[in-house]
Parts: sequence; C-alpha cells; structure tokens
Amino acid sequence: MTSRNLFLLPGDGIGSEAMAEVRKIIDYMNAEMAAGFTTDEGLVGGSAYDAHGQAISDADMEKAMAADAVLFGAVGGPKWDAVPYEVRPEAGLLRLRKDLELFANLRPAICYPALSDASSLKRELVEGLDILIVRELTGGVYFGSPKEIIDLGNGQKRGIDTQVYDTYEIERIAGVAFELARTRNNRVCSMEKRNVMKSGVLWNQVVTATHKEKYSDVALDHMLADAGGMQLVRAPKQFDVIVTDNLFGDMLSDVAAMLTGSLGMLPSASLGAPDPKTGRRKAMYEPVHGSAPDIAGKGIANPIAMIASFAMCLRYSFNMVKEADTLEKAIANVLDQGIRTGDIMAEGARQVGTVEMGDAILAEFKALSA
Ligand code: NAD
Repeated sequence: MTSRNLFLLPGDGIGSEAMAEVRKIIDYMNAEMAAGFTTDEGLVGGSAYDAHGQAISDADMEKAMAADAVLFGAVGGPKWDAVPYEVRPEAGLLRLRKDLELFANLRPAICYPALSDASSLKRELVEGLDILIVRELTGGVYFGSPKEIIDLGNGQKRGIDTQVYDTYEIERIAGVAFELARTRNNRVCSMEKRNVMKSGVLWNQVVTATHKEKYSDVALDHMLADAGGMQLVRAPKQFDVIVTDNLFGDMLSDVAAMLTGSLGMLPSASLGAPDPKTGRRKAMYEPVHGSAPDIAGKGIANPIAMIASFAMCLRYSFNMVKEADTLEKAIANVLDQGIRTGDIMAEGARQVGTVEMGDAILAEFKALSA
C-alpha cells in the first residue's frame, strides 16, 4: 500500500480546532479508502515557544523536511506578543518556508455559489469564480539586499529595500504557473511593472522565453500589476492563473481573497522544487487566516479553509485529483445546504460550530465517495 507521510503542525489558537476536523477526514480516508496516510504531529509558534523556547524545534524541523507534506494551522496570539523577536510565533512559519525552500505560493480564489452574496462585488461578477494566484515567495523586495535604514546625518534617514530577481527564480515560478494552468483552463496572466522597474523588464522577458521554450500550448498574457489589480475587481472571471512576484503577489492575492467572502474560507499551498529522485515537491498547506485569538477555544471557528488546504494537499502532493475534487464538492454541497459557521452566516441559514461543520463536510464527503 502507498505510504503518504503527513506532518501536522496545528500551531496556536484556532489552528488546533481546525486541524482536528482535517484529522477526521484523514482517519476516514485511511479506514475506508486505503489512503495510507501516516501522520505525526509537532509544535509550532507560541505553543512551541512554551515547550522549547523556540518557534519550532530542530527535531520538528527535521520531521517537516522528511515529510511528503506539511499541514500547518496558524500561529500567534497576544500571549506571545512580548517574546524576543527571533522566537516570535511567525518565526516558525518563516523558518519552515525558508528551510523547505517553498518558492511558490498558491492562493486559489474560489467563490462558492452559495456564498456569492458575501463578496464585496456584485454576485454576477464573482459567482463561479475560480482563479489561482501563483506568487513567488522567497525572492524579491522582501529579501533583497541592501535592506536597511541609514542615517544621513542631516536629521534625515533613508529606508532601503531592494527588489531583485535572477533568471532562475523567474523561470521556476513561471514553470509552476504554466504546469498548473495545464491542469485548469490553460491560461496564464503574468503581472509585473516593466514600465518602471528593471526587475519587471527581466520578469517579462523570462516568462516570455520560458513560455516559448516549454509551454507554448498554454495561452499567455502580460499585464502591468496595477492594471491587474484593477481588472481583478472589475472583471475577475477573465483570469485563470495569475503569476507574479512576491510583493505584487502579496497584495493581489489579498485583493482576490476578498472577492470570495470570508477569511475562514481561504486555503493556500506553498511548493518547493521537485525532488530529483521522487519527483515530489516539498510542500506545506495552510489556511490564509491567522490564529484568531478573539474566537479561539469557543468552538466557532470555520474549519473550511483548513479542510480546503487539505484538499489542495491531496491534489498537489499526492495527485489524488478525484478525492480533492470530491472534498471540494463536499464543501460546496454543505454550503448549498445552508449550513454556516458564524463568519459566513446568512439569513435563513443554520449556524453551526467548528465540529458540526467538520462533521457535515465529512458526511457529505462519505456520501459522495460511496
Ligand atoms: P486572523 O486571521 O487571526 O483574524 C482576523 C479576523 O478574522 C478575526 O476577527 C477572526 O476571528 C476572524 N477569523 C479568522 N479566521 C477565522 C475562521 N477560520 N473562522 C472564523 N473567523 C475567522 O488575523 P489577526 O487577528 O490579524 O491575527 C491574529 C494572530 O494571528 C496574530 O498573532 C497574527 O500575527 C497571527 N497570524 C498568523 C497567520 C499565520 O499563522 N499564517 C496569519 C495571519 C495572522
């Protein structure tokens, strides 16, 4: 039987409540579908700090490195606001991204029909929306050097960040976008600011060359990132896959997120390079939301973002496309049935807590898989 090794890092706040609902699905898939998942669990964020004085221990980092995929909940909370900067909860997340070399961040923006009235845009603009933003995650202006504030000595200071991209970084993220487009509607829109930035000129050239060389079967468009932001809120359904750099991707993926309603609905995946031996990419799957300290421990968090992150894991780490489709359909059906957590509550719907939402999705998943 295939063995699929998952490392679970529930983290802090609602992270563990949401992860518990994914565990139920894993257990079901092992028992009834011979999925062969093995799981191990570690600590990250504030909970790791409390236990080890670090945001993630070396032992847990090793397990993350060895796993086929990492499922991550959320980190942070007021309890750890005053801990030293190097061991703050987010440091655990950043170390995972860095050490696993997760250079491609995938953020789908899917608008479930049942929630199309929760969007800030008109229903007809977002109903049926299904776009994927592929953001470069380990380069660009967040990491380039020099990165400093210097004292100019005349009462003025200068803040410097450096936007820098090398050819290989653009080639590999473009490759991920084109490959994913082939599994969807076969269209990629690349966004940069080639009109004012040299890194944008290079980005445009490399994406164009990569396309010509290896992916000419995929339709490619280019858009300036500011125009892209405008188009995302004007007519989002025109896009299939958007590929962009770290900074623009950070902003554009948050804009796209809001097209779909609540933070509690949004999954993400971060992928690294394929292993030369197995072909499998290092990968981490996590909801976009944080640890939501305001509702933690109350049993009311929406587990859908976490469950949908697991669906992405099935799709991208294990090529279990049918199971991923079924799990996503189960989520859509439960929403169609009018079952809602508080954050997505609508008139006439039935409000449930975290566990009940997880149970409803599992029941639907079972029914659809039968
Ligand atoms: P947040 O995402 O935790 O919460 C923002 C708001 O959305 C809150 O009102 C919260 O109750 C609500 N919300 C979020 N997820 C929800 C869910 N699944 N169901 C229902 N409601 C949900 O962001 P924040 O309040 O800015 O940050 C709280 C903590 O989380 C901070 O310590 C922050 O640093 C951390 N954080 C962590 C991550 C991460 O782990 N990836 C991401 C963002 C923020």
